[in-house]
Parts: sequence; C-alpha cells; structure tokens
Amino acid sequence: QKKEPVQIRLIVGEVLKLLRASIPSTIEFNLEIRKDTGVILADPIQIHQVLMNLCANAAHAMTEKGGALSINLANLDIDNACAKQFSDLSPGPYVLLTVADTGHGMDEATVEKIFNPYFTTKEPGEGTGLGLSVVHGIIRDMGGFIKVYSEKGQGTSFQLYIPRVEIDS
Ligand code: ADP
Ligand code: MG
Repeated sequence: QKKEPVQIRLIVGEVLKLLRASIPSTIEFNLEIRKDTGVILADPIQIHQVLMNLCANAAHAMTEKGGALSINLANLDIDNACAKQFSDLSPGPYVLLTVADTGHGMDEATVEKIFNPYFTTKEPGEGTGLGLSVVHGIIRDMGGFIKVYSEKGQGTSFQLYIPRVEIDS
C-alpha cells in the first residue's frame, strides 16, 4: 500500500457523509472534528476501511435498541509521563480518533478476543470476524495503537492513536 501525508479530518468527513445515508434513524449521529487536526502518514483507502469497519460494528451493536454513534477527532500530544501509563506507546504527537457507541457492549473475556482473526459473535453470514483484525493491522502499521473500553449493556468505545507528522510547507 502507498502511504502519503493525509488530512485525516477530510477523509473522516467524506466517509461519514457516506455513512449517514446508510445508518438507520434509530441511531443518533454525533460528530466532532477539530479543525486543527493534523496530518498523518497513511493510505486513504485504509483509513476509509478502518472507519467503515468500526461504524458497521457500532451500528450492529445498536440494531435492537438504537442509540448514539459518536465520532471524535482531535490532536493529542503524549508526553513522557503520559507514555509511562500506557505500556505500548511512545511519546510524541498523535491524532486521536474515537468511535463510541451506546450499543450492547461486551464483557471482558470478549474484549480480549476481538482483534483475533475470525473471532465473531455474529451469526454465520453476518460477520467474518475479520473487521477488527484488519483495523488493528492497519493502525499498528502506521505506528499507532488502539484502546478499547466496553461495558456490557452500556456501550463500547474505540480509541485510535495515530502518529501525527509535522509537514513543512
Ligand atoms: P465481525 O463484525 O465480522 O463479527 P469484527 O472483527 O468486526 O468481526 O468484530 C469481532 C467481534 O467483536 C464482533 O463479532 C463483536 O462480538 C465484537 N464487537 C466489535 N465491535 C463491537 C461493538 N462496537 N460493540 C459490541 N461488540 C463489538
Ligand atoms: Mg465487523
């Protein structure tokens, strides 16, 4: 794949325009994209894929009761003290992309398995179990990492930390 400097907020905006049309009206859409969100090194198609996979899962988790899908994009600078709290993370400038839903959530045992290829709790034909393993691979390949918070019956939040690049122009 070809990585290039990408204004991630433009891609997120584009994908969400597509998604809005396909998401049922029982799901409320909250979008917060900071205008100063920086540039990342990425393949735009892969960012597309990451968002589609996360939003498809979120929408699926809210099929029964509806709910809210919230997407947030902002810069985040991680200093040494903060990096120590996250063992798998180095200090530096990041973009933080959060995709959160108020769907059925997961228990801890499920969360531990979600990035495994072919792990799915969906009916045959409904899911391949590959979505999140693909997301994980793409984010790791960009030098980023993912944190997942989920509570059964409450909802789920995926936080994607993607390294920012400073572009001189
Ligand atoms: P698939 O969607 O095909 O099942 P994924 O890799 O996308 O495969 O997701 C794996 C599993 O992780 C899902 O089957 C589901 O159990 C769980 N999961 C993923 N996203 C969410 C979410 N937003 N809310 C609740 N469960 C989720
Ligand atoms: Mg999926």
